[in-house]
Amino acid sequence: MIPAKGIAAFSAKAPLGPYSFERRNPKEHDVVIDIRYCGICHSDIHTVRSEWGDANYPVVPGHEIAGVVRAIGSKVTKHKVGDHVGVGCFVDSCRHCANCQQNLEQYCLTGFNGTYNNIEKDGVTPTQGGYSDVIVVDENYVLKIPDALPLDKAAPLLCAGITLYSPLMYWKAGPGKKIAIMGLGGLGHMGVKIARALGAEVTVLSHSDKKQQDAFKMGAHHFIHTHDKKVFLQHANTFDLIINTISADINMSDYFGLLKMGGTLVVVGLPEKPLSIHPFPLVLMRRSYAGSVIGSIKETQEMLDFCAKHNITPDIELISPAQVNDAYERVLKSDVRYRFVIDTTKI
Ligand code: NAP
Ligand code: ZN
Ligand code: ZN
Repeated sequence: MIPAKGIAAFSAKAPLGPYSFERRNPKEHDVVIDIRYCGICHSDIHTVRSEWGDANYPVVPGHEIAGVVRAIGSKVTKHKVGDHVGVGCFVDSCRHCANCQQNLEQYCLTGFNGTYNNIEKDGVTPTQGGYSDVIVVDENYVLKIPDALPLDKAAPLLCAGITLYSPLMYWKAGPGKKIAIMGLGGLGHMGVKIARALGAEVTVLSHSDKKQQDAFKMGAHHFIHTHDKKVFLQHANTFDLIINTISADINMSDYFGLLKMGGTLVVVGLPEKPLSIHPFPLVLMRRSYAGSVIGSIKETQEMLDFCAKHNITPDIELISPAQVNDAYERVLKSDVRYRFVIDTTKI
């Protein structure tokens, strides 16, 4: 086995702390990755606080992993020692179901093998994530990080980047389309940058009054501060597509009225509590309410290459492992600018 050091949650209430564990020895198709950086996703916080159901402690969170290949199994062809690589939200899937066969592993019919707080392909070993110094992953679930992307800034693309890229592509964001992004956090700010690069007209819907200048610097054309309910009437029937990245329980019905007739509101945010809606604003303008989760390996690679080509990177604050608990508090206050990334070489 390979010794690993990490930062783990031991219960829903206690702060995260150091944890030693082991990774499997590489099998024929495995890649051993020295993790250099790992982003902090709000999903890490929901998970370790058992907001989505009881977590399997200890949990080493982290699914925005960027690192360098340390070693490869004897049959690995896709990656070589020294390559810059990434790992996102899953480390395997069934590979046989209709969705896996269509390169849509994120929708694997038996459920993908999540990078942490889940079970490996062997059906018994708990998966542990990227707040650690090393990980072992099957080559087919490892992404290539283009040379143009610095590793620290590449890390958040593995979840925040793909989670916005996928719905923006599926619902065809581009020239002539008006897109709104709800919430300017880790996911939201990637949505702004990617939608802008795709040629769409981009609006940020934010409950924070101090993020306007940042939104414009990221490429947003418009910024709407949502604290005043009047804005929902002023901007009614405006957007082709709205993507909700908000991590908290909000009144969704307010937002449907902002869609044009036939427009779609896609939810990617996953708050602890259910979101309630009244169907009136949906039915009156034949609007759609949809969801989307991360993206496939193929699409994640496409997104990484797109970001490299268009010079798109997240705005990050690089922190040491000792600062993780403080960073969580700032994320919860919507005070992240705009993704914390842990320097895992300091673990
Ligand atoms: P984040 O960085 O904390 O951003 C969330 C943003 O939501 C905040 O910055 C804030 O933006 C807004 N917000 C927070 N509380 C609010 C409130 N009470 N009222 C209104 N707006 C509020 O989180 P993240 O990492 O981007 O993740 C966002 C959500 O997506 C989480 O629930 C996460 O679990 C989920 N997620 C889903 C997927 C998927 O595949 N579907 C993937 C990753 C994450 P403003 O300050 O601009 O209002
Ligand atoms: Zn995530
Ligand atoms: Zn499958």
